[in-house]
Amino acid sequence: MTRMVRLSRRQIIAGTTASVALGCKMPPPPASGASERSIEKIVSAQRTSDGAGVKLNRALGGGALSMLDPFLLLDEFQSDDPNDYLAGFPDHPHRGFETVTYMIHGAMEHRDSVGNRGRLRPGSAQWMTAGRGIVHSEMPKQERGLMWGFQLWVNLPRARKMIKPRYQDIAPESIPEASRDGARVRVVAGTAEGITGPVSGIDVDPLFLDLTLTKGVAYATPLPATHNAFVYVTDGAVRIGPSKTELRRGQLAVLSKGDRLSASCDAESGRIIVVAGRPLGEPVARRGPFVMSTEEEIREAFEDYRAGRLVGG
Ligand code: FE
Repeated sequence: MTRMVRLSRRQIIAGTTASVALGCKMPPPPASGASERSIEKIVSAQRTSDGAGVKLNRALGGGALSMLDPFLLLDEFQSDDPNDYLAGFPDHPHRGFETVTYMIHGAMEHRDSVGNRGRLRPGSAQWMTAGRGIVHSEMPKQERGLMWGFQLWVNLPRARKMIKPRYQDIAPESIPEASRDGARVRVVAGTAEGITGPVSGIDVDPLFLDLTLTKGVAYATPLPATHNAFVYVTDGAVRIGPSKTELRRGQLAVLSKGDRLSASCDAESGRIIVVAGRPLGEPVARRGPFVMSTEEEIREAFEDYRAGRLVGG
């Protein structure tokens, strides 16, 4: 069962949610110096396939938006046709970055060369730091029905690309949730509504929220001013920023600098993921499953993989 956090008026007055307001009945008080993030660019996810032929929608990491430092890729897989997902992602390597999986519906199993095995089920997350190298598989654990989830790639600082691999497997009940006045937010990483998500010790100090609004609801939340940020509409439609531009399912909006995000909904409902991270400002060399800082390091990664040196050591 998901841990629910209901915010009292006392909490709000006490300042634990000082710059947060949920619901159009209670507009957020403008904090001094606060600046609202606006939309810099809108990208529509493109249909593609990856792994052994899994059909997916790529919103980040494709031709329209190759990266948003420190984020390298955002894929959404959503299908109730088993032919779109049964092939899964058999054994493949990674080096130099982190992969984040967030499931809304369906079940996947993860296995890797270090002996880890984990089940991804609805509402769960996995934050995998590939570091110097991992070989893993991500396979569906269902033969029919809806499979719906996301994968986000997060870069590692150059000095930390060769660290030991690390996993954070997060059960649905470990992701705190706040709900009030028609808005619901699950906090996977970072802080919102005075609650902090379970993901810890990540270099780019990420924020990852899953926010659902119902019709007529307005919502605002602080975003770290130092961070790059985007929102991706996973269902329905949501209006973002001071322009209240409506984004629909499958659209990603890159946000301007600022320290606050506002969202509202006048469709039947709207659901977005909100992602923010501290940019690294470092050169990026990437090919296939490897993300390094130079072409030479990419060549080394392929050589290490071929020679069986990618993992272990
Ligand atoms: Fe992978």
